[in-house]
Amino acid sequence: MKAVAYSIKPFEKEFIARANGKKHDITLISNPLGIETASFAAGKDAVLVFTNDDVSAPVINKLAGLGVKYIATRSTGTDHIDQEAAGLSNIKLANVPGYSPQAIAEHTVAMALALNRKLVQADAGVRRFDFRTDSLIGFNFHRKTVGIIGLGHIGRATAAIFNGFGCRVLGYDIQPSANPNDIEVTDLVTLLRESDIITLHIPLSGATRHLIDQATIAQMKKGVMLINTSRGGLVNTAEVIRALDSGKIGYLGLDVYEFEQGLFFAGHEHDWQKDGMMLRLLEHPNVLVTPHQAFLTAEALQEIANQTITSLDLWQQEKCLGEACTCGSHCGRKKNGVKSNPNENILLL
Ligand code: NAD
Repeated sequence: MKAVAYSIKPFEKEFIARANGKKHDITLISNPLGIETASFAAGKDAVLVFTNDDVSAPVINKLAGLGVKYIATRSTGTDHIDQEAAGLSNIKLANVPGYSPQAIAEHTVAMALALNRKLVQADAGVRRFDFRTDSLIGFNFHRKTVGIIGLGHIGRATAAIFNGFGCRVLGYDIQPSANPNDIEVTDLVTLLRESDIITLHIPLSGATRHLIDQATIAQMKKGVMLINTSRGGLVNTAEVIRALDSGKIGYLGLDVYEFEQGLFFAGHEHDWQKDGMMLRLLEHPNVLVTPHQAFLTAEALQEIANQTITSLDLWQQEKCLGEACTCGSHCGRKKNGVKSNPNENILLL
């Protein structure tokens, strides 16, 4: 299969090469996908994208016109892809479901610890040879209440780590599955009211956009710690900044940012004033921002590459990946009545 992979970082190349061997003819380019760069996909069967690529309807229509039949995103989240437009253009989609939940869970907890124990300020002080501790007081995680919104792969992995600290772990999910015995499953209102630390592990969709806004913040404890390693759009950033100013939110950790497209994954040392909202966030010493790096471990990168290449393998054999097949109803429509076997992870087309 011929493919072009957009938004490739130099560090990804060895993982993709190891996963692919010489099976598929993949052109790796650093340019993001957009209306201007879609033409690089001419003559290709598949396009491989990442979270900040533009996979909107106009771009998808252009790709379809160039003969592209498949789009695989090297991410779990699919909120950047217009799935409706892909279905209408008969383009099949795949994502990478649950590639290494521990990578994101561990980064979530690292952000919480760094904020609580003021590791960034301590390190900056020590590097100036300032060894004073007056402003470095934190709190014990032990016996605090942690609220986990979204009990999927990453939410459950995060719960396991906080359990190890001796926290009381509350969890909320719209689809409560098997009730893990280390999590007290509850409703959103209770979770917001009782948690000292709240962490988001749900996908971004129309229903979840701005889940964290003035109304939900009002229900939280004063001084709450909020961590978002899922998607920036889950949080109304302007309203969160107001809550930081008032002290309602005591700590904020963001690995994802509502306006990260065009900002993250690139150096902006020379146009650093371009994002006023980010500047406002960074005025607060109790805010920690990382540039969408929660997935960035060697294990996760290899698993992303492996699962992406598996999608190409199966498409080449005219099969559709089970859990990784994100085209849902559109795939179903094209299956001409061939039903999936619930005991198999692969849907035959
Ligand atoms: P998952 O599908 O295993 O779990 C998501 C859970 O959220 C599901 O249990 C689902 O029922 C629940 N959910 C959906 N809508 C909800 C709502 N409105 N309220 C409560 N629960 C809801 O996904 P995952 O692998 O745990 O990943 C979660 C998210 O993490 C992804 O969608 C992605 O956006 C993000 N992510 C971020 C990074 C990163 O590097 N920062 C890496 C991977 C994934």
